[in-house]
Amino acid sequence: LLKLASEQIFNLSDTKISAGFSARLSGNMSLFYGEIQYSLENRKNFLDNLGIDYKGLVCAKQVHGGNIKYVTEQDKGSGALNYGASIEATDAFITDKKNLPLAIFTADCLSVFLYDPKRQAIGLVHAGWRSSRESIVAKTIKLMEQEFHTNACDLHVGFGPAIRSCCYEVDKDFKDFFPKEVLEREGSFFLDLIRVNKRQAEESGVLETNIRDSGFCTFCRNEEFFSFRREGKSCGRMLSVMMLR
Ligand SMILES: [Zn+2]
Repeated sequence: LLKLASEQIFNLSDTKISAGFSARLSGNMSLFYGEIQYSLENRKNFLDNLGIDYKGLVCAKQVHGGNIKYVTEQDKGSGALNYGASIEATDAFITDKKNLPLAIFTADCLSVFLYDPKRQAIGLVHAGWRSSRESIVAKTIKLMEQEFHTNACDLHVGFGPAIRSCCYEVDKDFKDFFPKEVLEREGSFFLDLIRVNKRQAEESGVLETNIRDSGFCTFCRNEEFFSFRREGKSCGRMLSVMMLR
């Protein structure tokens, strides 16, 4: 559970990428919430196991928007040691550069891993409901097509832990944004954020057989994962990371 390799995220045996997501056991990974010194230690311990240098991490100030950034060597280490140096207002990264570890921080929001083994390119997306409403996954795939000549049918997509439709109660208004993915149960409404992003990936041309879902609900399994909804704003953040080798 701690350090899931590419096989567990993509159901793909491939030594050219390192990818994983942390859980509660690895501790808080945020430099924005909590004690910085502990978060840096937690990052180092977690990333050492994946063979990734924590000082090279590319981090963003995530704003639940629709901005995607193509990051290169000059961005290496942005936000790795202090939050202020994170890339501004971005919720998704793409790159075709090796040894450039992309980071996304979550506690209920969905992390989406994208890997194009043919073009050797990757993407990592912070997909909360707002960014999902802005079709951030579809836009990230489009940008990979533009920048790397990715064919969506080659893409492998993996979903990290997130709050799921069992627990993600929303206002009825959400039906306007996600008519097919808001489910009604006993007069309450629940959003299936994973289904939203799966649909966007499939509509972009990703094959269903290339999509893999970790299946973990952060709210149900709060003893194993951080949950913003259950614990509040100051709860820990988990790290999703991916790097080309
Ligand atoms: Zn749940």
